[in-house]
Amino acid sequence: MNLILMGLPGAGKGTQAEKIKDKYNIPHISTGDMFRLSIKEGTDLGKKAQEYMDRGDLVPDEVTIGIVKERLSKDDCKNGFLLDGFPRTIAQAEALQQLLSDLGESIDYVLHVDVPEEKLVERLTGRRICPTCGTAYHIEFNPPKVEGICDKDGSQLIQRDDDKAETVKRRLAVNIEQTKPLLDFYQEKGYLVTVNGNQEIDNVFEDIQKKLVK
Ligand code: AMP
Repeated sequence: MNLILMGLPGAGKGTQAEKIKDKYNIPHISTGDMFRLSIKEGTDLGKKAQEYMDRGDLVPDEVTIGIVKERLSKDDCKNGFLLDGFPRTIAQAEALQQLLSDLGESIDYVLHVDVPEEKLVERLTGRRICPTCGTAYHIEFNPPKVEGICDKDGSQLIQRDDDKAETVKRRLAVNIEQTKPLLDFYQEKGYLVTVNGNQEIDNVFEDIQKKLVK
């Protein structure tokens, strides 16, 4: 199953990605996570990506396409993959078409998790992440058992810099502008399926499974 997960920041892509990955046994490839890891490790890629991410801007296409190309060539992608946060531009989408065709592959579905914009600001600014294991919580909708502490490993939860109010608004504006042409691109190719992301997590996942018929 070769999948692309689409949706604005805060639509619940990360949560659904974990479920899809386990159910369909495919790697979850998040370009945002890859960049964050590179920053943490202080690699050259991390240094390049950081200035763009801190501003809430997209990392340049050639850098992003390069890391995805490398990742999709790995053995664990032979059974399929779930791309999350990529592609974000038409240039990336076109590069992906080429890349997959070179590998003798193609996309099965582009899954769009749809949530109204006003709900997203609420969701994003309340999000807290465990810096150790990456688990995401929400101060109101999905709180940890003890306030500010990860249920799984006891770490102090943090708010990602790009989940702070000023950056959230900018991220959403950038994303809305960039997402529309991509949805059109994949709609035209017949890959696009949309699920209502404004419902309970498990119901979103049920809807997803109904749409992913191979
Ligand atoms: P995310 O976790 O997907 O919201 O990504 C966080 C940040 O990483 C974005 O705001 C961008 O700066 C960068 N990023 C992630 N994926 C891409 C992509 N496909 N193209 C360009 N920049 C990206």
